This record gives sequence, structure tokens and C-alpha cells, in this order.
Amino acid sequence: MPTLYIDGEWVAAQGGGTRDITCPADGVVVRTVDEATAVDTERAIAAARRAFDDGRWSERPVTERAALVQRVADLLERDAAEIARTEALDTGKRLVEAEYDVADVVRCFRYFAGLGVAGGTGGRVVDTGNPSAISRIDLLPAGVCALITPWNYPLLQASWKVAPALVAGCTFVLKPSELTPGTAIHLMSLLEEAGLPAGVANLILGAGATAGAPLAVDPRVDLVSFTGGLVTGRAIMASAAATVKRVALELGGKNPNIVFADADFDAALDNALTAVFLHSGQVCSAGARLIVEESIHDAFVDALVRRAERITLGGPFDPDAETGPLISEAHRSKVQAYVDAAVAEGAVLRCGGRPPDDPRLAAGTYFLPTVLDRCHTRMTCVQDESFGPVLTVETFRTEDEAVELGNDTYYGLAGAVWTNDGSRAERVAGALRHGTVWINDYHPYLPQAEWGGFGQSGVGRELGPTGLAEYQEPKHTYRNIRPGVSGWFRETDRRGADQ
Ligand code: NAD
Repeated sequence: MPTLYIDGEWVAAQGGGTRDITCPADGVVVRTVDEATAVDTERAIAAARRAFDDGRWSERPVTERAALVQRVADLLERDAAEIARTEALDTGKRLVEAEYDVADVVRCFRYFAGLGVAGGTGGRVVDTGNPSAISRIDLLPAGVCALITPWNYPLLQASWKVAPALVAGCTFVLKPSELTPGTAIHLMSLLEEAGLPAGVANLILGAGATAGAPLAVDPRVDLVSFTGGLVTGRAIMASAAATVKRVALELGGKNPNIVFADADFDAALDNALTAVFLHSGQVCSAGARLIVEESIHDAFVDALVRRAERITLGGPFDPDAETGPLISEAHRSKVQAYVDAAVAEGAVLRCGGRPPDDPRLAAGTYFLPTVLDRCHTRMTCVQDESFGPVLTVETFRTEDEAVELGNDTYYGLAGAVWTNDGSRAERVAGALRHGTVWINDYHPYLPQAEWGGFGQSGVGRELGPTGLAEYQEPKHTYRNIRPGVSGWFRETDRRGADQ
């Protein structure tokens, strides 16, 4: 069956190209999909443009749009087991993690449907200060959206864009990562089953440089919402500048996890592991910078290294596995190079730093949980994201120093502070320039709370009411109900003659 979805039809790539998708846990081909090129992308953009311009979706009442998004949530729930399996095979993550992801996807669709029903697409009337004039702000759909997503949370990242775009009344072209397209295909089939009009949702599969790049350039696209790496984000922003598209970017992070000596030691330790090693560190908000108070450094890091060494690696369906492989051999090579460079610049390798020896894991792209001690902010390994299971460790002596270190990053996505002193927790959290800050916790996020970054972690926010506003254009209409002459220009010239 063809896997591109354009104008309500399942079609093959015009050039006839295909791509094998392999499971990173064992290298086995799990599906073969069509590989689009620019011609396919342009067809998808044309379909989305037509569907937007004739109002087949944008002019439906928001309650109807929201009802369809609710229906999609029901269908996602119905198919949750199959979708989770697809996600686990494409990404190599544990099945149970993929199951959590699908539950989060359902919550996201339900949240935005609810927001639509509750008036999230309604505008407002503003006081003109003039009894003869009425002024209102309408929140119109932003138009044709290009939705470009990464491989680490394929369906979840897509849902943060697709659900609000649909509720807002937009049409879109979704371009998931070429490495993990399975669940996006499934999502399209559910949108079709739910009764979405043809052309509103379009799916393009393929490499970023060929299938993705036209999306940021084409003048028929009004908005690009991108989640992925910093370098790609910059390129997309630059391409979009030529036609002054709206751009929403969710990029990476090098996120500080600050632990004070008075924190609950066991909770902070356990969560420091989850912060960085969940999904083998392939999480944009991973707590990959441990910043620990000097007085507990030795005890904390020794215990952390002991636990990191015990983490069991394995494939999606291995009941003993605690985390899985990296996404690809290319990515594993990058992580290896990052660790080698860190050691060369003076980091002390406490554990990991290489692929595992276990022959049962030899066919997968695994990398051992890695701790790099004695780091400082001038080191590249502290500043740059590895997007792998690599923790750098820094120390501090005072609260001010902890904040200074936490903010010494060109990113600004997320961070955490661990302390039993409530006032200090609020002071430090308040001073951290990051889009999300956790106090005595790591990783929870909510569909109703904005997500995004300060600094080079991105532009704009997903989730929460702002996540819907990304897909809306506010429009001001001013109406004079007692029209009359303004009297600004004279009706006669200086000599009194008629004009
Ligand atoms: P990536 O930038 O390589 O690719 C992301 C997507 O962009 C893919 O679909 C890819 O095909 C596409 N793409 C690549 N070049 C393109 C181009 N020139 N034009 C249009 N599209 C193009 O990122 P990745 O490797 O898939 O994901 C990892 C990165 O994503 C990490 O840096 C991570 O921090 C980031 N990320 C951020 C968040 C967040 O919420 N901030 C969430 C997940 C991942």
C-alpha cells in the first residue's frame, strides 16, 4: 500500500523511490515506505493550499472541528497497542515507553479538542473608548502549515502540532523524520476514518534535504512548525525568511539538573538517572548537566555511577531492558565522537563511553550510560547537546554559583533544582532562564502547560493555550456604527473654493 497521503489519496512517490525502515535494536527491516522528493512535497502543499482557500475546514464551526479531534483521540485509544508497537519498532524504545507516549498523544488530542470547545478559538471585543465604534479581535486560522518532526518521540511531537492546527482550522503537510514514519502513517489513516475532508491533512515521507526543504521555501506555506536539531532549525528559519513565514521552533537543550546538599538524596539520585538516561538520553529536555553541591559530590556521583553501570540495555520487547538503543549507527558515531572529545578536553570518564560488549546487543546501535566527571562550563561537552546517554558533572559552592552555572548555556529548554529549602527552591527556579523548571522532580509535562525554550532552544511555545495560538492569526475589525465626516482635511481650499 502506498504511504504518502496527498489530497485524501494514498499515493506512491512520483519518482518511485522507497526507503527501508530498520529497528535500531537489531537492524531488522520493519517496513518499507515511499520516499518523496520535492515534486511530491509540492503536490501536497498545493492540496493543502486548495483545501484552506476554499474553506472546507476553516469555515466549519469550531465545535465540529473539535468533535473530529475528539474522535481521533478515541480512534488512537482503540489502536493504542498497535501504534505503540509500531513506535517501538521504529525507534527501538521499550514497548512500555511507547505505550506511555501513545497515552500522552491521546491526552494531547483531548486537551486541544476541549480548548476548542471552551472557546479557545474565540476572539474578544475591545473597548474603543468611542461609543460610536465597536472593535473586535478574531482568531483566524494561520493557513497552510508545514509540520516537521523528529525521530525521538515521533507521534507525540506530531500530535503537539496536528491537534492544535486542526482545532484552529488550518490545513497542513506533515513531514515526520525519515527514520520513524510508521505512526504518522497510522495517524493519517485515523484522520481519514474520522472524516477529515480531503486535502486538510497531507503526509510526506522522506529525507529532510529533499522532501522537507521545499516546505520552508514555498510561498504557499504560511507557517512552519519544526521540532528537531538546532542546525536544522537555523536553516529552516533562514529559508522561511524569504517569504516571511511564521516560524515556530522547538530545538534542543543542554539542561541543568541542580542538586543541593540538603536535597532528598535518594530521590535526587534516582531522578538524576531518569533525567539523563531515559530513552538513552534522546530527549530534548534530558537532564544531561548534573550540577551538584561540592560537599556531596563524591557520595552522589559514586552512587550515580554504580547505578548507571547497572542499567540493563535491550530491545523493545525484552522484559529486562531498562532502556534501548540509539536511533542509528550515524547517531552512535556522533555520540562516541562527543565522548572522545570530552575526554580529550579533560573530562574524567567514570563509566560507559562506548558501546556494550554484550554479544546479544551487537546487532543494535546501543551505547553504555556514560558519566563524565570534573567538567566545567567552558568545555564543549557541557555546552553542546550529545542527544545520547551522556551526563556531564559540575560542582558549585553557593546558591548564586548554582544559578550562574544553570544559566550558562546558549540553550534554555528545561532544568531542575533539588533542595528541601522551599524558599531557596523558588529563588533558584525563578532565576533560571529556561522554558520549564522542575522543583524536586524531573520530566513531568502537561498538555495544558506551555512547552518550549528560551535562547537557542527555540521560538514560540507548544501545548497550553499558547500552543493553539501558534496556529492562529489575530485579526482586528473596527466598525463605526455612526459613520460621519472625520473633519481632518478641509472640505474647501484656503480660498473657500469647492474641491
Ligand atoms: P533533525 O533536525 O535532524 O530533523 C528533524 C526533522 O527535520 C526531520 O523530519 C528531518 O527530516 C527534517 N529536516 C532535516 N533537514 C531539513 C531541512 N533542510 N528542511 C526541512 N526539514 C528538514 O533532528 P532529529 O535528529 O530528527 O532530532 C533530534 C533533535 O531534535 C535534537 O537536537 C533534539 O534536541 C531536538 N528535539 C527537540 C524537541 C523540543 O521539544 N525542543 C523535541 C524533540 C527533539
